[in-house]
Amino acid sequence: MKPILQTHTAYAYAKINLSLDILGTLPNGYHEVRMIMQSLQLHDTITLNINNTPGITMTCSDTALPVDEHNLAYRAAVLFCTTYGITDGISLHLEKKIPVAAGLAGGSSDAAAVLRGLNEMYGSPATAGDLAALGVKLGADVPYCLMLGTALSEGIGERLTALPSAPDCHCLLVKPAAGASTKQIYTDYDALVQTTDIKHPDTDALLSALSAGDYNALVSGLCNVLEPVTMQLVPDIAVIKNALQPLGADGVLMSGSGPTVFALFSDLDTAKRAEAHFLATEYAPGTFLTNLYKPE
Ligand code: ATP
Repeated sequence: MKPILQTHTAYAYAKINLSLDILGTLPNGYHEVRMIMQSLQLHDTITLNINNTPGITMTCSDTALPVDEHNLAYRAAVLFCTTYGITDGISLHLEKKIPVAAGLAGGSSDAAAVLRGLNEMYGSPATAGDLAALGVKLGADVPYCLMLGTALSEGIGERLTALPSAPDCHCLLVKPAAGASTKQIYTDYDALVQTTDIKHPDTDALLSALSAGDYNALVSGLCNVLEPVTMQLVPDIAVIKNALQPLGADGVLMSGSGPTVFALFSDLDTAKRAEAHFLATEYAPGTFLTNLYKPE
């Protein structure tokens, strides 16, 4: 297959979960989820270049990340090239901005951006459906990261429905330094759900809020069943949430399996004051003020 572009820059957008519900466990052990996803303007940048030395080579601004088959961006390039019989050399450089292991789908989004980018460089051999089918092999969130915007994600995350865009607002991310393993969080959830009444989101009410463009109903319905679980492992989550509320946040929630907490603000000055507050704390390295991302 011949490329139509020798070089390409692809953008990988972070996501937050406006809601995250677990409906049960599937026979294969996966959790069946129902969640409302929202992409953010905060993004990684991936530069793709075709060269004459066969194979995939990778560099990354974050030297703590692997640059081989352990990196989802690298794996996405290998998968696309194998699927479409591409034998050119491909180099990719990942400029990392999305916090790692944060509940913001950074790795999945990088994988999606590589699939999208290579597809453009080779004249779109894959349809959107083909790309999603490749994406789900790399991770359950990859099909959403290909789609972007506001979406309902069901099944293991592969069943997607586009939703009306969330009302414009500002999003402050605060990630504590301590992390927690996603596997551990799901295991702890399974144990906790046996003994505790966990608050579930009213997903249908949130869907109605999105259809009506009702910002107040949206922010008051934010809910993530994993939040109490990760909070037990990372107490900083509660510290951050408690600090955000008096700073004027309209709604505050942990994203994905955490530990990043996000706060939504309709007013930019209030959001900037909250950002300044966190930039003066130990949480400064994990503090980012961004906006919702709405693809055209
Ligand atoms: P999710 O929200 O989908 O659970 P996450 O934001 O919690 O994702 P990632 O940032 O994707 O987590 O990283 C999880 C792990 O994946 C990290 O420990 C990292 O070593 C590995 N990883 C592989 N490729 C990447 C990548 N391109 N960017 C970040 N992490 C990657």
